[in-house]
Amino acid sequence: MANDCIFCKIVSGEIPSSKVFENESVYAFRDINPMAPVHVLVIPKTHIASADEIDAENATLVAKIFEAIPKIAAAEGLTNGYRVITNCGEDGCQSVKHLHFHLLGGKKLPETLA
Ligand code: AMP
Ligand code: ZN
Repeated sequence: MANDCIFCKIVSGEIPSSKVFENESVYAFRDINPMAPVHVLVIPKTHIASADEIDAENATLVAKIFEAIPKIAAAEGLTNGYRVITNCGEDGCQSVKHLHFHLLGGKKLPETLA
């Protein structure tokens, strides 16, 4: 666990979360400040700081996240599509430095990002 990483603490149970999915590599929970009717954060259980830290060694974990996403989307009833976003670094406005993918849906989302 990375020191003082809130998402590592969510994985360990030290900080409570509203879990929607878990397997050996992936944990998913509801965003505390939802931006859409469904707003789930999907994270690797192992600490990776951001998308900029993805490499040949940890890319299998990222693949596991993308295997989990359609299962989570189906369980959340997102039959009409959804959006997956990761914010990276300062310009990407990443506020939590543990790689996470926002799974958003449940309504028609705006076309533009900025
Ligand atoms: P980002 O800005 O991409 O780093 O996204 C971080 C996300 O984590 C934000 O959407 C926050 O609302 C969410 N968040 C922060 N703390 C918690 C928490 N304890 N439980 C659930 N979601 C959280
Ligand atoms: Zn972490």
